[in-house]
Amino acid sequence: MALGELVDGFGRRLNYVRISVTDRCNFRCTYCMPEEGVKCLSHRDILRYEDIAFLCGAFAELGVGKFRFTGGEPLVRKGLVPFLQSLRAEMPHIKTALTTNASLLEEYAEGLARAGLHSLNISLDTLDPEKFRKITRIGDIERVYAGIKAAKRVGLTNIKLNTVLIRGFNDGEVERLLEFAEEHGLLLRLIEFMPLEDDVWTKEAFISGQEILSMLPGGRWIKEERGGTNSDGPAQYFVNEATGRRIGVIDAVSNHFCKSCNRLRVSAEGGLRTCLFSENETPLKDIIERRDADALRETLLSAARAKPRCWSDVKTGTLHMSGIGG
Ligand code: SAM
Ligand code: SF4
Repeated sequence: MALGELVDGFGRRLNYVRISVTDRCNFRCTYCMPEEGVKCLSHRDILRYEDIAFLCGAFAELGVGKFRFTGGEPLVRKGLVPFLQSLRAEMPHIKTALTTNASLLEEYAEGLARAGLHSLNISLDTLDPEKFRKITRIGDIERVYAGIKAAKRVGLTNIKLNTVLIRGFNDGEVERLLEFAEEHGLLLRLIEFMPLEDDVWTKEAFISGQEILSMLPGGRWIKEERGGTNSDGPAQYFVNEATGRRIGVIDAVSNHFCKSCNRLRVSAEGGLRTCLFSENETPLKDIIERRDADALRETLLSAARAKPRCWSDVKTGTLHMSGIGG
């Protein structure tokens, strides 16, 4: 029996949920976290995998068809791969996706392929090992390359490379990144730098989506109509007229995609956020732990109805991106 769908007050159907499985990370990207890291939540404070599975079941009954697991770094949480495999067995019709820094991907790629992962987003901001260490503060780019190779080897498909473009840091690397993506069969997406870490973001470092487009090499890039491949996310896709190369641009700061937003977010502690930029959260952990399916459904439906029209209408919070999951 259909139990209703998650539709907000503006008629948007919310069928995509991003779930953060941990606030911890083995990197300290300068634009995402302070150098000392964030205050780590204890195991008691975060949803257990069986809780997440219960939550996914409730969302699925309300029409959600895709879950993206993120963090912090999702692969640092033990047991993620068996969890995804069991989720797949319980809900074979649901799409699952992962966003990762790829540092541990070599180890887990095969298990992820067996879990039937539908798509994989890998964050990589530079191809220069020194600059990579600088932006991540601790990362080793070779681990990321090994992860990408492993993902390809085990047959994972629909892999995207996400790059936050920052003036004076990696704005000279667009062509190289495009070539790297092509060489490895990945889809490159260039992301506007969001002002979340106050000490790091500057107006000068910000590059708008419009400017990103003007920086693309190789002649004319034509915007794809929505409705094509990968069109359920926030990116706009462009195809190069001469080469047929594709690229995505995510302009979350300058040109909000609020009108077509279909997503909800759940933090590692079980806080439901209906807007990335809002500090309002609906706590779900107690209801989930009580296994109160009716209360959970009602809470999800009413939070969805109250989703803000646009981020410009909300009181923006001060959370680090690692706590929200991107
Ligand atoms: N650790 C995983 C990773 O890095 O892919 C998943 C979590 S991370 C918070 C998700 C995404 O948020 C990454 O692609 C990262 O580049 C992006 N992100 C973090 N801070 C950002 C910022 N200030 N502006 C734009 N994107 C940001
Ligand atoms: Fe960690 Fe991802 Fe944030 Fe970098 S962007 S610090 S890898 S959570």
